[in-house]
Amino acid sequence: MSKQKTVVVGAGPVGALAALYAAGRGHDVEVYELRGDLRDPSTVPLNFTKSINLALSERGINGLRKANVPGLIEAVLEETIPMHGRMIHGAKQGEIYEESQNYDIHGRAIRAVDRAGLNKRLLDELDKMPNVKLLFNHKLLGADFKKNKAWFERRDEGVRQDHAQNPTQGKDAPHASTEIEVSFDFMIGADGAHSAVRYHLMKFTRMSYQQEYIETLWCEFHMDPSATNDFQISPNHLHIWPGGEFMFIAIPSLDKSFTSTLFLPAKIFAELDKNPSSLVDFFNKNFPGVAGKLIPEAELQKQYNENPHLPLISIKCSPYHYGSSAVILGDSAHAMVPFYGQGMNAGLEDVRVLFEHLDAHSSDAAGRATALDSYSYDRAPDAAAINDLALRNYQEMRADVTSPVYRLRKWIEEQMNVFLPSAGFATQYSRVSFGNIRYSEVEKLAQKQGNILLGGMAGIVALLIPAMGYASWAIWRWNRASHASRFSVKSIASIGDITERIGRVFT
Ligand code: FAD
Repeated sequence: MSKQKTVVVGAGPVGALAALYAAGRGHDVEVYELRGDLRDPSTVPLNFTKSINLALSERGINGLRKANVPGLIEAVLEETIPMHGRMIHGAKQGEIYEESQNYDIHGRAIRAVDRAGLNKRLLDELDKMPNVKLLFNHKLLGADFKKNKAWFERRDEGVRQDHAQNPTQGKDAPHASTEIEVSFDFMIGADGAHSAVRYHLMKFTRMSYQQEYIETLWCEFHMDPSATNDFQISPNHLHIWPGGEFMFIAIPSLDKSFTSTLFLPAKIFAELDKNPSSLVDFFNKNFPGVAGKLIPEAELQKQYNENPHLPLISIKCSPYHYGSSAVILGDSAHAMVPFYGQGMNAGLEDVRVLFEHLDAHSSDAAGRATALDSYSYDRAPDAAAINDLALRNYQEMRADVTSPVYRLRKWIEEQMNVFLPSAGFATQYSRVSFGNIRYSEVEKLAQKQGNILLGGMAGIVALLIPAMGYASWAIWRWNRASHASRFSVKSIASIGDITERIGRVFT
C-alpha cells in the first residue's frame, strides 16, 4: 500500500508543526509556502505584517511537546523569556509608577518568544526528515477536494518576467512563474487569516463563516536596550500602559530590547496622522514614561510614521473540513484578536487535537473522514470561545487591570484556589494560559464561578444594607442632626453603585 500523501499549505508556526506531526506518522509530506524560506536572509521578513514576538503559553508548549521530536521543546524554551505577570505603568499626581500583578498565584509564567526564531526551529526539524519536502515560493491558486488535486503558482526566485526582453526592469518587476498541479490524499490548510484553502473549501462544504474587523488598529515600536546594554524595564513582565479606550504594551526580546505595540481606535490614529506633532504629547498624557525615556521622541515619531498601522480581524467558521480530503487549522480556521495572547497557542493546540482525533480512527479515507468530522464538531466551539474571550480581554487589559473590583475578584479566586482547592476555583487567565482544558469549558467555568461570587457579594450587600440602615438610624437618633439622615441616603446610593460595578466584573 502506498504511503499517505499529506500536503500542508502554509509554513507558518501552525503549518510547520502540522507537517512535523504528519511526518512523524510516516506520511509523505509536502509543505507549500507562499513566501521564500525565512531562514534565507534575502527573504522579506514577515515582521512587516506580523508582530515580532509573541507570548507562548501552555497550550502552544503542549502542542510542541506532543510532536515528540527529541530536543525540540527544550530548544524552543531555551530561547524564551518567562513573563511572570503584568507590569502596569501609570502616573499619579505627576509621579510615574509601575505596579506588578502576577499572572498566577503558583508562580507560573507565560513566555516571550521570537516568532521567526520559533518558525525557523520548526523548519529546521522538518529539513531533517527524509519524508518531508519544503517548497517555498508556492502560492495555492485552486483546489478540487473531490478529485484531491490542487494548483500552485511556483514563483521562480531570481528570474524576473520579461527580463531577457527588458533588462532595464527594476527589482520590483514581477517574477516568472509556472503553474503546477499537485495530487494529495489529505490537505492541511494553515495559510493564515486570509486563507486560500478556506476559500476553496467553502465551495465544497456548507461552511458558516463570520468575520469582524474591530475598530482598533495596531502599530509596532522598538525599544532599544539601555546604554549599558541591559533591559530598560523588567524583562520578566508583559508591560502595559492602560489607557481606558486604548493601550501600549511591551514584550521582552532576548537581545534585551522590547517589542512594543500601540493599540488605538482607527479614529484616534487618523487624528494623530492629521497632527503628527501631537504624538509625543499624546504619549506623555496617556503612556507616561515612554516618550523621551524608553523610546527617544524622534525615534517614536519615526517609527509611528514608518511602521504600518494594521487592522485586527476575528474569524469564526465551521465546519473546518471536507470529507477525508482537507481541514483548516490555526488562523485560517479562527483568526482572533491578540488580547489573550492565544492565536498561535490555539493554532498549535489545533494540531495536537486534530492528530488525537486522527490517531483514534483507522488511517484510511473512511477513518480520516470520521476523525475530521469529530474534530470539526469538537473544536469549533472551543475556537469560538477563545475568539470571544480574546475580544473581552481587551477591556481587561486596557481598563479593568486598574480597577479595585477586578483585583478583588482575582484575589478571592486565587485565595480559594490555594486554601480551598476542593471548591475548584481558579482565575480564567490561569485556566486559559496554564492549562489544557477546553476553551469552551473555561468559559463555562468562569461564568459559573462569577455567578457564585456575585451571589456571595449580593449576600454580603443584602446583609450590609439593613446593617447600614440600622447604623444610620442609630446615628440619627443619637445626634438628631439633619446631616445624619443625608449620610444614610448617600451610603445607600453608593452601595447601589458598588453593586453595579461588581456585577460587571463578576459576570
Ligand atoms: P500565519 O502565521 O499567518 O502563517 C500562514 C502562512 O501561510 C504564512 O507563512 C503565509 O505566507 C502562508 N500562506 C498564505 N497564503 C498562502 C497561499 N495561498 N499559498 C501558500 N502559502 C500561503 N498569538 C499568540 O499565541 N500569542 C501572542 O502573544 C500573539 N500576539 C499577537 C500580536 C499581534 C499584534 C497579532 C496580529 C497576532 C498575535 N498573535 C499571537 C496571533 C498569531 O500571530 C497567529 O495566531 C499565528 O501567527 C497564526 O499562525 P498560522 O501558522 O496559523 O498563520
